[in-house]
Amino acid sequence: MSIKPILIHPDPRLKKVADPVSAITPELGRLAEDMLETMYDAPGIGLAAPQVGVLSRLLVMDCVKDPEAAPRPMVLFNPQVTWSSEERSVYEEGCLSIPEQYAEVERPAVVRVKWLALDGTEQEEEFSDLWATCVQHEIDHLNGKLFIDYLKPMRRQMITRKMQKLKREKARV
Ligand SMILES: [Zn+2]
Repeated sequence: MSIKPILIHPDPRLKKVADPVSAITPELGRLAEDMLETMYDAPGIGLAAPQVGVLSRLLVMDCVKDPEAAPRPMVLFNPQVTWSSEERSVYEEGCLSIPEQYAEVERPAVVRVKWLALDGTEQEEEFSDLWATCVQHEIDHLNGKLFIDYLKPMRRQMITRKMQKLKREKARV
């Protein structure tokens, strides 16, 4: 396993629609393991393949908050929202590709999601609370969408400028 570098916004790869996975190859299995390791190391609660520069419909997440509780690493290939609640909820979101920037985003409070697991079996589950927000945020990544796209243009541009500055500073080191 290895930790992958995470792309920082703005990056054209974060704006692309990722391709469906037609077969879960051993390479994709290894990528999923690396993404989990990268996510836990960051630390974060979700990571989508485009964030490590791979334009495939794959995301990983673990939204268990209690440090005493057992972790629940999840790997989702080709995730699809099959139902979302009319009830909405607001969470303060952040993103590993937009470090240290947070903003409130409103999304459906509960979603049902269908996906292929690492072993190729089809799974379906209802997510609520933080899990619902996280899975929707990560699926957005597979469609080239970032949480700042939900914000007003002024706020979005401000964050983008901060990230450009951060990238320039990083490049100089
Ligand atoms: Zn993100």
